[in-house]
Amino acid sequence: MAVLGIESTAHTASAGIVGEGAKVLGLASDMYRPPSGGIHPREAANHHVEVLPGLVERALADARLTPSEIEAVAFAQGPGLGPCLRAGATVARMLALTWERPLVPVNHCVAHVEIARALSGLDDALLLYASGGNTQVIAFGSGRYRVLGETLDIGIGNFLDKLWIALGGTFPGGPAIEAAARTSSELLPLPYTVHGMDVAFSGILTAALALSRRGASREDIAYSVEATTYSMLTEITERALAHLGRRDVVLGGGVACNQRLQGMVRAMAEGRGGQSFAPPRSLCVDNGAMIAWTGALALSAGAVSPVERSAVRPRQRTDLVEVGWRPAGVSGRAAVRASRGSSGGASRSPAPSASGSRSAARPR
Ligand code: AMP
Ligand code: MG
Repeated sequence: MAVLGIESTAHTASAGIVGEGAKVLGLASDMYRPPSGGIHPREAANHHVEVLPGLVERALADARLTPSEIEAVAFAQGPGLGPCLRAGATVARMLALTWERPLVPVNHCVAHVEIARALSGLDDALLLYASGGNTQVIAFGSGRYRVLGETLDIGIGNFLDKLWIALGGTFPGGPAIEAAARTSSELLPLPYTVHGMDVAFSGILTAALALSRRGASREDIAYSVEATTYSMLTEITERALAHLGRRDVVLGGGVACNQRLQGMVRAMAEGRGGQSFAPPRSLCVDNGAMIAWTGALALSAGAVSPVERSAVRPRQRTDLVEVGWRPAGVSGRAAVRASRGSSGGASRSPAPSASGSRSAARPR
């Protein structure tokens, strides 16, 4: 079994090929880096269109496979930026038609969960998904992944990137803030915005910039911002664990590569008698292998889409996706009761799209 996966929800264009047991056979990624400021969806999409054919070739070469040995083509259907999603979907449709293989749409957030679940062997773990556009605590229950808590405004990664750029740095901000924070131990006061199992970051951004105007160093701001926001994420993860009576946590998303966040979540999980697991960096950030693996799982449940019904879904929520490849599970009821449901307002939708939501039957 070998499935190809195409990822293109935001900055990263990636092609991955996985075999049985989520074994990564080939993976090639290329990140769009804006010359200044934040991401421009159309420029990122142009980047993805340019690089994806070469990335598919590299992944095939890595895997030492020919297209005839690929069983299916999976792609990230959403959530994400409309133009970026359409770039990846177009490449995936073209390959599926040319190679005469099934086309499998995959939810990007579910893919982060599934790759972490496969690599960790922690079957009933909660996912703390901390990336550029998404910040969610997710648990499986009664046939779907349920969102227990999430950001009420921007994703944690976008927050870190905006802050660092405003402080004179460049994208991506998260790793630079991690490096700067290592040289400080000065905890400056910042708002701590946890609402139940939800979090918010924009007030912290305003407060951190005010500290900078009053002369605080970038290092002290970096240290304080990490301490505050990663505590918030650890707290909502712990609350979700306690609520569901579960013990284990897996991490996903670019911000989950952060050593300090990993350490805080590990200490919390171990303190409760559980474990935590973060995939290696190449599989924690956005990547085609997680799309391929989730595509393989979805294929096993028959979740194939004809091209004419493969429209991208920029605002597709995690909890809208039927997870036909997992037994519904008895522990799921509490997750359903605790979840936010799928009717959150626009401000709660992950990965805001420049082009709005799409419900057209026509592929875009
Ligand atoms: P993703 O959206 O999952 O591709 O992740 C991209 C985001 O992860 C960007 O906002 C980066 O700033 C952030 N990021 C990457 N590495 C780190 C790190 N070591 N610490 C914190 N944030 C990070
Ligand atoms: Mg992601």
